Amino acid sequence: MSTAGNARHAQKVARVAEQLRRRTSKAPLSRQKRVVSHQVPKVHDKKYTDEKIDLRDFDEILEIDAERRICVAEPGVPFCRLVDATLPLGLVPIVVPELKTITVGGAVAGCSIESMSYVYGGFHDTCLEYEIITAKGDVLTCTPDNEHALIFQMMHGSFGTVGILSRLTFRLIPAKPFVHLRHETHTSIDSYLASIWSHFERRDVDFMDGIIHSPSHLVLCVGDFVDRAPYTNRYDWLKVYYRSTATRREDYLKTPHYFYRYDKGVTNVHPKSFLGRLFLGKFLGSSEILRLAEKLRWLVLSDERPDVTVDTFLPFSRLKEFLVWYAKDFGHFPLWVVPYARVHDYEWINDAVWAKLDDRLMIDIAIYGMKQRGDTNYYRVLEEKLQELNGIKTLISYNYYGEAEFWQIFNRKNYDTVKAVTDPDNIFRTLYEKTCLR
Ligand SMILES: Cc1cc2nc3c(=O)[nH]c(=O)nc-3n(C[C@H](O)[C@H](O)[C@H](O)COP(=O)(O)OP(=O)(O)OC[C@H]3O[C@@H](n4cnc5c(N)ncnc54)[C@H](O)[C@@H]3O)c2cc1C
Repeated sequence: MSTAGNARHAQKVARVAEQLRRRTSKAPLSRQKRVVSHQVPKVHDKKYTDEKIDLRDFDEILEIDAERRICVAEPGVPFCRLVDATLPLGLVPIVVPELKTITVGGAVAGCSIESMSYVYGGFHDTCLEYEIITAKGDVLTCTPDNEHALIFQMMHGSFGTVGILSRLTFRLIPAKPFVHLRHETHTSIDSYLASIWSHFERRDVDFMDGIIHSPSHLVLCVGDFVDRAPYTNRYDWLKVYYRSTATRREDYLKTPHYFYRYDKGVTNVHPKSFLGRLFLGKFLGSSEILRLAEKLRWLVLSDERPDVTVDTFLPFSRLKEFLVWYAKDFGHFPLWVVPYARVHDYEWINDAVWAKLDDRLMIDIAIYGMKQRGDTNYYRVLEEKLQELNGIKTLISYNYYGEAEFWQIFNRKNYDTVKAVTDPDNIFRTLYEKTCLR
């Protein structure tokens, strides 16, 4: 680690720790960072009125050790900058989320997935160490096996309510300049699931995700790093990646273009029209769209009847049941499909949920931009169905759980244990308050 980078980092940490140590107010505090948040923007999100702690300068890559294949970075580093820095060394982070400016800190605290998840789980599962600043200004080094192991695990999916991530150490893996994709088209759920399972068992591809265009048109996109490509495509202007999977049998993309093939939206692409993309597509990526939505939230968003944008995790063994029900009761397509290996029984999930689960593979089914019909609350319908199927709904958007119900899914015992150390006065709010209460 460069001494200069280290010295700068130590100064930033000392500044924030001092600010927290001196603070007497018990009013809630939210983080301020440079790049836009990739959570579903909400009109009345309390973070807009909270006092802020300034973390905008926590966006440096502190070290890339190509030999040991590890990277040390501050939480505000966006994955696109990370890939730019590591790929020339023939390395990339594992599980690169598809929106360019998702940050490494947000990818842990807000969870993240992508097409390597069928082997590695989430980005958190590739991390080795976290430096945490507590609400009292203490600075803790947490690893999966030191005295702060539970805090290390509970930072995952904590949505900023446990402590401030100030430095992350994570693994890198070898990469090649191009990705060769094969799009397998299936006409039945059974053959689709059989193919997912066979790739999972054989681990015979570097990447696996999919697009369900309709109940009888299911595409599995498998890919591998390659050194050479006869041609390459990119989907960051006029062409739309998820649509290409409906017609192409194979494709070649430069590795960064593969990572950001969905940056204009996975299945809810903006601008929607060809003309819109022709004139604005070059300038409007997910960051700009989210920034605009945040700025114009009073005009363009509704907290009463928000569109459904959410990731849902299903046990592989219950996926067919879910998809048959979903096609009948929701019927919104396309869907994004991301297989996710159960590499660790996360401490932030209730032990009872893991006890009921035999599956080694979970499947993330992502619904983006579904308009709600009539006066049905489709988020609530999903919450109830997922509990029935032992599935889990991510907390990145709208949540309607009662508090007791919420802690039947999430792990209150572990949560309270770490909060007592990292935020005893609850200035970062609780997970339930932050994700469910408006
Ligand atoms: C339309 C849409 C599509 C998405 N698709 C995907 C996807 O395909 N793959 C995927 O992985 N994710 C996806 N996400 C979810 C997204 O990755 C997560 O919401 C992620 O947490 C966003 O990261 P961010 O860097 O923007 O963090 P933010 O949005 O700024 O923060 C996310 C959460 O993490 C907390 N946090 C951030 N930094 C820190 C820190 N330094 N210390 C403590 N807490 C912190 C924040 O308080 C917040 O609660 C999607 C989200 C949306 C809205």
